[in-house]
Amino acid sequence: MKENKSEWVLLRSFSNSLEANIVCSFLNSQGIETQSRDEHIVNINWLYSNAVGGVKVMVRSQDLEAATSALEAQESAPPLEVVGEECPKCHSTQTEHNFKSYKGIKTLFVALFALVLPFRDREAWSCLSCGHQWQKTESQSGIYIFFNWLIFFLVLGLLLSLFMGWFRQI
Ligand SMILES: [Zn+2]
Repeated sequence: MKENKSEWVLLRSFSNSLEANIVCSFLNSQGIETQSRDEHIVNINWLYSNAVGGVKVMVRSQDLEAATSALEAQESAPPLEVVGEECPKCHSTQTEHNFKSYKGIKTLFVALFALVLPFRDREAWSCLSCGHQWQKTESQSGIYIFFNWLIFFLVLGLLLSLFMGWFRQI
C-alpha cells in the first residue's frame, strides 16, 4: 500500500455528530474523502463537545479547497424543499408559513383553539428570498366555517355545563 496521500486537515467542526455526518456524506457524494474525529466522545456526552472543540470533519489537504467551495455552494443554494405561497413582492416561491403574527397570550389561545378546531382564517407568510412578510386571508367555504363554529359552540356548551355542575356542588 502506497503512502503517497497527503495529510488530513481540519475542514470544519460541529457541535454534534449529526451535522458532521451530513457534511461527510455530502462531501463523499462529491468524491471527496472525509474523516470525522471526536465523534464518539461527543456522542457520549454532548457537554464534552465544547471541551474537545466539537466533532471535526477532516479532509485530505489537497481536497481542502474543493471541499470548502462545494460546501459554500451547497449553503448558498436556497433549500429546494420549501415551496409555499408566491411572494407578492418578488414572486419567489421560497416562502414559509409562520405564526409570527400571534404574540404572547394570543399564541396560547391560538394553540388551544387549534386543538379543538382548525381556525385558519389568517395566515402569516414570510419570504425567504427578500424577507417580505404578509398575511393571507384564506377563502373558506361557508360549510367549513359553519362546522367550525358548530364545533366551537358544542365545546363551549360542554365546558359551561361542566362548570355549572361543579358550581352546584358547592
Ligand atoms: Zn419575496
